[in-house]
Amino acid sequence: MSKFWSSLAKQVEPYIPGEQINDDTIIKLNTNENPYPPSKQVIRAIDEASKNLRLYPSPTVDELRSEIGNINELSKDHIFIGNGSDEVLAFSFMAFFEPGKRIKYPEITYSFYPVYAKLFNISSEQIMLNDDYTIPIERFYDSDGGVIFPNPNAPTGIYLELEAIKQILENNPSHVVIIDEAYIDFAKESAVSLVEAFPNLLIIQTMSKSRSLAGLRIGFAIGSPELINGLERIKNSFNSYTVDRLAIAGAIEAIRDNDYFQQTTTKIIESRTYLKNQLEARHFDILPSQANFLLISHKEVNAESLYQELKKQGILVRYFQKPGLENFLRISIGTPEQIEKLLEKIDHIIKPSP
Ligand code: PMP
Repeated sequence: MSKFWSSLAKQVEPYIPGEQINDDTIIKLNTNENPYPPSKQVIRAIDEASKNLRLYPSPTVDELRSEIGNINELSKDHIFIGNGSDEVLAFSFMAFFEPGKRIKYPEITYSFYPVYAKLFNISSEQIMLNDDYTIPIERFYDSDGGVIFPNPNAPTGIYLELEAIKQILENNPSHVVIIDEAYIDFAKESAVSLVEAFPNLLIIQTMSKSRSLAGLRIGFAIGSPELINGLERIKNSFNSYTVDRLAIAGAIEAIRDNDYFQQTTTKIIESRTYLKNQLEARHFDILPSQANFLLISHKEVNAESLYQELKKQGILVRYFQKPGLENFLRISIGTPEQIEKLLEKIDHIIKPSP
C-alpha cells in the first residue's frame, strides 16, 4: 500500500497472468498460446506496415472490421476491435454492466471477470457449475444486470450448444449476454449466427489463440450496431488508438490466410484427441474439452506436485490455486513433439522405477 494510491488502486485485486518465461528450452504449455507460428503473410504485412510507423493508426480500424465482418457475413458496423480481448472485455463491462445491478457468471470460469467486476464496482452472482462441470442453463435466466461466460468455458474447455445459449438470451431480453469465444475456433460452432436475431448478444473473440497472435494483441467483439456503438463510446473516452499499425496490418492478413488458419487449427484439434487418449491410458480424468487445452486430474497424483515436477523438468503447465481447481492441471495443446516430451516426463514422474 502506498499513501499515493487512490482508493480504487488500493481496492483492486489484479489478475495474475500465467508465467511468461524467456527461455526457448522450456516447453510452454501454460497460457494456451498456439504452438505454431503466425502465417508468413502476417509477418510480411507487419514488415510493410513498419514503414509507416511515423503515422498514427486508423482510429476506426475499418479495414480489419470489414475483413472480420466478411468472414462472419456481417457488415463492419457489427464489429469492434480492441487491444486483445481482455481490453474488449473491460470496455464491455463498462459499456453494458451497471454498478449496483448483479451480473451472473459461472463460479469456475475465466478469472479476469471478478477482477473487472471489482474494478468497475459491479456486483456479481457466481453460479456453481453442475457436478459434471457443465453450465446450469436455467440459473442464468432473469439476471439483474447481465450475463457473461466463455464458450467453451475456461478452464474446463466444456462447450455449450447454441440451443442453450439461445435460451439464455431469450430469458435475458433486457440485459446484455456476453459470450467470450476465445477458444471457439477449436469447438463446434460460434454463436455468431444468433447476432442478427438477438440485439442483446455480444460475442468476444481473439486472435491470440487460433490465429497464433497472442503477442500482437488483437481481440474483437461481434454484436448489434447498437452494442458496438456503446463500445465505441467507451473506447473513444479512453484512448483513440488502442490498436497499433503493426497489429492492424498483421491481423488483416491472419484473417485472409484462411488455409493456414484451417491447417493449424485442424492439427491442434487432432493433437487434443491424441493427448486426451494418451492421458486416459495413464488413468487421468479429463474433462471433454473443445478448446486448445485439457483440464486434467488424477486420483493418485497430486496436481500441484506434478506441476512442480514438470516445471523442474522444463515443462510449464498451469496450476490454479483456487477453490474447486486444486486437483486439476490445465495443459495447453502443443506440437506433436512437445506432447511426446510431456508424456515422457509424466511417465517418468508418475511411474518411479522399481
Ligand atoms: N477470454 C478467455 C476465456 C481467455 O482464456 C483469455 C486468455 N487469457 C482471454 C479472454 C484473453 O485473451 P487476449 O486478451 O489475449 O485476447
